Amino acid sequence: MDCLFCKIAAGEIPSTKIYEDETVYAFADIAPAAPFHAIIIPREHIASANEINEGNSHLIAKVFEAAAKIAKQENLENGYRIVNNCGEDGGQTVGHIHFHLLARRNLQWPPG
Ligand code: AMP
Ligand code: ZN
Repeated sequence: MDCLFCKIAAGEIPSTKIYEDETVYAFADIAPAAPFHAIIIPREHIASANEINEGNSHLIAKVFEAAAKIAKQENLENGYRIVNNCGEDGGQTVGHIHFHLLARRNLQWPPG
């Protein structure tokens, strides 16, 4: 499948690794929106949050387990934000589900 994040997870396209395990890969966003900006993905292709179902939701649970590990690994004790953009109005630009982990600045709420 011609998917950018499948290729990144497989190591076919280079990335700066932040965390990996059997199920999850996390890497530095190429255009960081905060001093710390990781992209966390399940290795298995899921197109968007709209495609989460009973058969694959365990992979999303693993993404959040990984996020907690990354926060400890990177000493993000001041907090962080996890964002998923879904579909056109949500601002999703890559068709492989991913979660932004943003940290090391005071993040405004609500987002724009
Ligand atoms: P989204 O707009 O939510 O779909 O997020 C896609 C994110 O992927 C953006 O923040 C991009 O900066 C990031 N991105 C796109 N290509 C790459 C790449 N080759 N390596 C790392 N991050 C990327
Ligand atoms: Zn993919």
